[in-house]
Formats: sequence, C-alpha cells, structure tokens
Amino acid sequence: TERTLVLIKPDGVDRALVGEILNRIERKGLRVVAMELKTAGDDVARGHYAEHEGKPFYPSLLEFITSGPLVAAVLEGPRAVAAFRQLAGGTDPVEKAVPGTIRGDFALNTQYNLVHGSDSAESAEREIALWFPDL
Ligand code: ATP
Repeated sequence: TERTLVLIKPDGVDRALVGEILNRIERKGLRVVAMELKTAGDDVARGHYAEHEGKPFYPSLLEFITSGPLVAAVLEGPRAVAAFRQLAGGTDPVEKAVPGTIRGDFALNTQYNLVHGSDSAESAEREIALWFPDL
C-alpha cells in the first residue's frame, strides 16, 4: 500500500467540486486517511512548489494556491500515487487530460486545473510531512 498527497485547489473549492472529486476518489477505491480544509500560507505554498521556483508561472501559481481555502488530503491504497494521477488527468486540461478524468471533465486552464497529486511515493512523503506535520 502507498500514500499520496492530494490538493483540491482553491478553484475546486470555489466551484463546489469537492464532493464530485471525493466521490471519484472513493469510487476508485482509494481511502481518505486525513483531510483538512484550509487556506495555505506562503511558507507551505513555497515548500510545496519549490521545484517550480524561477519558472515564469511560479509567482502566479503561489498567488493562486494561497488565494482561498483548499482541501488537502492524504489518500491510501495500492499504487495510490499513480491511481490518483490517472483520475486527475494530464496537467493541461485540454491538450493532455482526456474526458473521464477530473481535469478533462471540469477544467479548461493549465493553472486552474483543480487538483494536485504527488508525482512519486518520495514526493508524497515529503508533501504529507509539509501539509500534515502531525500525521
Ligand atoms: P500538480 O503538481 O499540481 O499535480 P502537475 O504535476 O500536473 O500538477 P506540474 O508541472 O508539477 O503539474 O505543475 C504544477 C502546477 O503548476 C500545475 O498543476 C498548474 O497548476 C501549474 N502550472 C504548470 N504549468 C503551468 C503553465 N505552463 N502555466 C500556468 N500554470 C502552470
């Protein structure tokens, strides 16, 4: 079994897609083992997106991710990292994410793409420690 860190980003909360997204996660068979609704501070946002520092979209990404409440969750299950990324679809919701995925069904914009999922088991453990220091 494996864990992954998922964010329902502020656009997903603002558009009231939290239930829809959690429904897809649970139907897939992934288990929610921790979950919190909160507004990310600048420190957590920078830690989360450290790998993107210096990229053109980085300042706007930080502004977006701290712009309002988001849902942070830890999912557990066999191959949870890949399983959630399959549910999410590709980063670009039009060119990469296909219909049937969260981004393919509900998003149009590469920044406002509704969800984040860890890209490896190692990233997941780092991100879980960042978002859920008490877990
Ligand atoms: P995430 O890490 O959020 O799951 P990802 O792994 O699909 O997304 P990354 O390449 O790690 O994509 O980018 C992180 C996030 O930065 C994206 O989800 C998106 O919100 C934003 N982003 C990535 N590329 C761009 C871009 N070209 N323009 C605007 N925003 C972008």
